[in-house]
Amino acid sequence: MTFMQRCLAAFSVFLMTQAFASEEAYRLGNNVTPSFQQIALRIDPNQETFSGETTITIHIEKATDTVRFYQRDLDVFKAELIDGARQIPLTVESQAYDIQQGKAQEILPAKTYQLHMQFTGKVNITSDGMYLSAFEGKNYIFTQFEDMHARRAFPGFDEPSYKIPYQMTITSPVVNTVVSNTPVESTTQADGWQTVVFKKTKPMPSYLVAFAVGEMDSAEITGLSVPGRIYTPKGQAHRTKFAVAQTPKILDALEDYFGTPYPYEKLDFIAVPNFTHGAMENAGLVTYRSSLLLLDDEPRLTEQSGPTKTIAHELAHMWYGNLVTMAWWDDLWLNEAFASWMESKITMALYPEQNTQAQLVQEGAFGADASPTTRAVKKEVRSQTDVMDGLGLNYSKGESVLQMIEGLVGEVPFQKGVQSYMKKHAWGNAQADDLWEVLSTVADFDVPALMKTYLEQPAYPLVSFAKNGDVSQSRYHLAGADVSPQTWIVPLAITYKKNGKITHTRVFLDKAKTNLPELAEAQWIYPNDNAMGYMRWQIPASQLHALLKDTQALNAREKKSLLYNSDALLNADKISLDQHMAVLDALAKDNDPVVARSVVASLNDLTYLVDNNNKALFAQFLNSKLSHWFARLGTVESKGDSNDKSRLRNAVFGLLSRYTQNEDVIAQSKRITEKFLQDGTSTGRAIAGNAMRSLAVNDDKRWFDKYQAAYFATNDANTQSTIRFGMLFPEAVTVRKVLDMTLNEAVSPANVLGFIATASQAREDQDVLYQWLDENMEKVTAKMPAYHVARMPEYVSSSCSEHNIDLAQRFYQKHMDKYDGMARSYDVAQDESKQCAKLKQANQGAFNQYLQGATAYF
Ligand SMILES: [Zn+2]
Repeated sequence: MTFMQRCLAAFSVFLMTQAFASEEAYRLGNNVTPSFQQIALRIDPNQETFSGETTITIHIEKATDTVRFYQRDLDVFKAELIDGARQIPLTVESQAYDIQQGKAQEILPAKTYQLHMQFTGKVNITSDGMYLSAFEGKNYIFTQFEDMHARRAFPGFDEPSYKIPYQMTITSPVVNTVVSNTPVESTTQADGWQTVVFKKTKPMPSYLVAFAVGEMDSAEITGLSVPGRIYTPKGQAHRTKFAVAQTPKILDALEDYFGTPYPYEKLDFIAVPNFTHGAMENAGLVTYRSSLLLLDDEPRLTEQSGPTKTIAHELAHMWYGNLVTMAWWDDLWLNEAFASWMESKITMALYPEQNTQAQLVQEGAFGADASPTTRAVKKEVRSQTDVMDGLGLNYSKGESVLQMIEGLVGEVPFQKGVQSYMKKHAWGNAQADDLWEVLSTVADFDVPALMKTYLEQPAYPLVSFAKNGDVSQSRYHLAGADVSPQTWIVPLAITYKKNGKITHTRVFLDKAKTNLPELAEAQWIYPNDNAMGYMRWQIPASQLHALLKDTQALNAREKKSLLYNSDALLNADKISLDQHMAVLDALAKDNDPVVARSVVASLNDLTYLVDNNNKALFAQFLNSKLSHWFARLGTVESKGDSNDKSRLRNAVFGLLSRYTQNEDVIAQSKRITEKFLQDGTSTGRAIAGNAMRSLAVNDDKRWFDKYQAAYFATNDANTQSTIRFGMLFPEAVTVRKVLDMTLNEAVSPANVLGFIATASQAREDQDVLYQWLDENMEKVTAKMPAYHVARMPEYVSSSCSEHNIDLAQRFYQKHMDKYDGMARSYDVAQDESKQCAKLKQANQGAFNQYLQGATAYF
C-alpha cells in the first residue's frame, strides 16, 4: 500500500493499559484451517445495503464443537457446517477483535467440512472495506481490505497466513462494469441484472481480494506479459495515456529483477476517485488514487515521479507481499520497506531524469525516530490500530535500512539473496528473519545481528569522532530529551584527509567506544560515504571548518547529508546556530540544484522560529540567500529543464512567496494564479500552488471566492489539491469558510483532512480552528475515512506554540475517546509539539540575534 505521507511521519508509545492478551484472543489459531473460499455478492451501487453468501472449505485438526472466523458490521443470519448431506447449524457469538465463535451442539470429528454462511451488510462511505464512492453524479463500489477490512465485506479467515484460492461471483444491475482479481469465467443476465462469475484465484491472503462495480470505462495496457487494462469512472479513460505507456517497462524491469514472470493471470488498474491511501496492490487488480492515473497526456517531468514511483511500488508487491506474504501483521513494515526500496531502485534504473539517486530516504524517518517515545519497527500487533501506528516511519526507516544492507552486501549478491528467498517461499508466508537468514548466505558479516540493532530497538546512533581517533556512539536525541543508553552495530564508510591526502576506510563500530588510530590528527573526516548510513555524526569544530573548505571532495548526496546532519546537531544542542549557519553558507554557494534545494529545505526548517516580531528581518535574510536563484530560475518552466532544476524553482519560489513581500514575487503570483484558475494545465501545479498561497497569505477576500469556484468547477484531482494547498487564508472568517468547504459534497471524504490541515497552518493561533472543529466534529468525522479521523491530531495539531498546545489539550480531552486510535495520535502530536516548543525556547534568542547580525550586512 502507498500512503498519503505527511512531512514528519510520527510515532507514539503504546501504553499497555490492557491486560496481557494471549495470541488466541486476537488470532484464530490453527485448529481450524481454510483451504478454499467461494463468495457470492449481490451489489447495486445505488443501494445502501448488499447481501451475500459464502462457502469455505475448512479442515478441523482436533475434534471440537467450535469454529471461529472474523466478521465486522455484517449481519450473519445463517451459519452452518455441511458434512456431506448433513447440515450442522452453528450458534454465532461475537468476541473481541471481530472474532466470531460458531458453536455446534455436538463435537465435530477431525475432518473436512464446508462452512456455509449467509449475510447482509451496509456499504460505508469511509474508504475501508467495501465502500461507496461518487463521481460526477454516479455511484461506484470499491474495496480496500488491507489490513483487516475484508471481514467488513464477507465473513472469513481474515489473517495473512491463510493463503487460499478464492472464487468470486458478483450480481449487479447490467449497466455496471464488474471487475475482480481474476478474469471473468462467465456472465449470465436476467431481469436487468447480470451475474459475473470470476475464475478461481491463485492462493492469496484475504486482504488482497478486491472488486469494483460501477459504470466504468477502460483503456488497454499493451506490451505486458499478461492481459491488462486501466479502469476509470465513466468518461475518464482517455486520461490514462501516461500510465498505459509506463506500466509495461516497469513490470518488465521487476520480472528481470526477481527472475520470475509476473505471478498472476492478468493485471488491471483502477482509478478510484475517492481513496484514502495512495494505492493498494490487490493481486491482479491494483487500486490507485485517481490523481495518480488520470493525468495530462504529457505530464510535466516534476509530475511524473509520483505516478511512476507508485506503480513501481505496487507492482513490486506482486512478488514481495503477494507471492510471498508476511506471516502476521508485525512484519508489514518489511513488506512496505521492501516495496519502497524496490520502487526507488526501479525508478533509478528506468527514469534517470528523475534523479531518485539524490534522494535521502532516511531523512524522512529521522524526525519521528528521534522522539523519546518512538518505538521499534518490530513490535507486537493485535489490532488494526496497532498496525497503523507508526507505519509511515516504518516505510522510510525500513527502506533506508534495506538500502544500507544492500550497500554492504553488494547489489548482485543482494539480488541473488532476494531471488532465492522468493523461490523458497513462493505462494507461502515468511518472516523477516527468513530474509536475514538468506542474506547471511551472501554476506561476509552477521546480517541478523546488525539488523536486530536497527529494527528491534528504536531510534538511531549519533557517532562522535575526537581528534585522537576516539569514536563513540550514543542514542541521538533532541536537546533536553531523556533517553536510555543504547548501542548499534554501525557500519561506517569513512573518507578522511590526513597530511593533505584523501583516504577511504570501512569499519563496523559495535561497541560504545573504540579508537581508530588512522583517524588521529586527520584534517577532516566525512564518516558517511554516499550518505548511506542510518545515523547522525559529529566531528570536532576544527575538522568541520576544514571540511567546509574542501566540499568539492563530496558528491551531492554527501553535501545534502552534511547540511541535514548539521541541522540535527543544532536541534540536539551539539553545535551553535552560528556553526550551523556556517555549514549552510558554505553550501549555499554550491551550483548544483540538488544541493541548493537542500539549502532551501534547511532554511524552511528554521521557519518555526519566524513570528510577527522577526518576519521582516527573516524576509530580508531569505532574499539575501535566495534572490540570485530566483533571478536565474524565475517562475516559468522551459521544455529542457531538468527535474532538479524545476524542483529547485518550485522550492525557491515557495519559500520566497510565503515569507517575503517581494514585489516581483507577488506580481508573478498574480499572473500564474489568474492563468491557472482558467486552465489547470497552464503551468506546473507546484508553482501554481505556491503562487496561490502567496496571494492568500497577503490578501484574503479577493481570492477566496475565485479559488472556491475553481475548485468546484473541476473534476481533476490534481488541480483540486493544488487549489486546496493554495487556500492559506489567515483571516478568521476565511479560515471558517475553508473549513466549511469540507462539509460540501463536492469535497470528497478522502480530501477533507487536507482542508483541515491547510486551515490549521493559516494563522499563528489556532483558536478559530478548534472553535470550528468543536461545533462540527460529529458532522465532519462522519464523512471522513476512519484512518484520517484517528490520525487527525498528527495532521492538524502539531504546533510549536504553547497557546496552541493548550488549545489542542482542551479540545482532544473532550473528543478523543470517541474515536479509535485518536488518543495515540494525540500523544504523538503533543510529544512533537512540546519538543518543538522546547527547541523554540532554546533557539529563538540566537536566531533573532543572528538575523539582526546577518541582515546588518545588506
Ligand atoms: Zn506498499
